[in-house]
Amino acid sequence: MTKKFSNQYCIYCLKYFDDLTKDHIFPESWYPNSTPNNKEKWVAPACFDCNNKLGKIEEETYKKLAISVTKNDIAASGVSEKASRLYNPNTAKDKKSKTRKISNIKKIIPDVYPADKIPINAFMKNCGLKENELNQKLAVNISFELLDSFAEKIIRGLEFKFRDKLINQEHRKIDIIHPPIGIDQIAPNEIKELNNILNQDGAKADCGPGFKIRYVVDIYNTSLYHIIIWGKIEIWGNVYNTSLRTK
Ligand SMILES: [Zn+2]
Repeated sequence: MTKKFSNQYCIYCLKYFDDLTKDHIFPESWYPNSTPNNKEKWVAPACFDCNNKLGKIEEETYKKLAISVTKNDIAASGVSEKASRLYNPNTAKDKKSKTRKISNIKKIIPDVYPADKIPINAFMKNCGLKENELNQKLAVNISFELLDSFAEKIIRGLEFKFRDKLINQEHRKIDIIHPPIGIDQIAPNEIKELNNILNQDGAKADCGPGFKIRYVVDIYNTSLYHIIIWGKIEIWGNVYNTSLRTK
């Protein structure tokens, strides 16, 4: 029997509910095929509205990130195949599904660039799409607004999972750290320093090969998270007490 959450706070809107849904911290459909069957898929209490709203953010993020991963990576096994089904009209079972797939293509085309024409600040600039499909290396642009909403959702979930803490905007706040250059290049000093902190004092956790997490909590109760999704997409973020910062 599936046990639902009850009589507690939704970790996203922080309101108290009698009945809550089980929200997957990492979206259930994002787990690669290489995930062991016995691996626990972490969940957190979310109200119906938040679960619904976040589901839409996850879906939009997935449409962009999942087509950027490579086929032969164990950390992302099955992800690119699943993503290409979102777009390939030839895999449609009926007319309605074909229309949906064509509409998905139309929506993503403005954000797909050939490798030499990618905007400088595009997040996914180093993530190539499969070269064989269009015979040209491509990249997908994803806005920081979308990516940050997704990253914040994951971090709220992990704070609940690892620390049993809610992130109350009045006292605790999330900062998403944007490395100024792509992950395939040399990391800037800020990231190098954070990496050192995590290498020295960080704890590790994972939800199978698809999601690797390192985190550390310091004496000021600041948590630092580094999350790698599908061996490719990195999220850096910290959660801090607002009273400890002037900005
Ligand atoms: Zn809520």
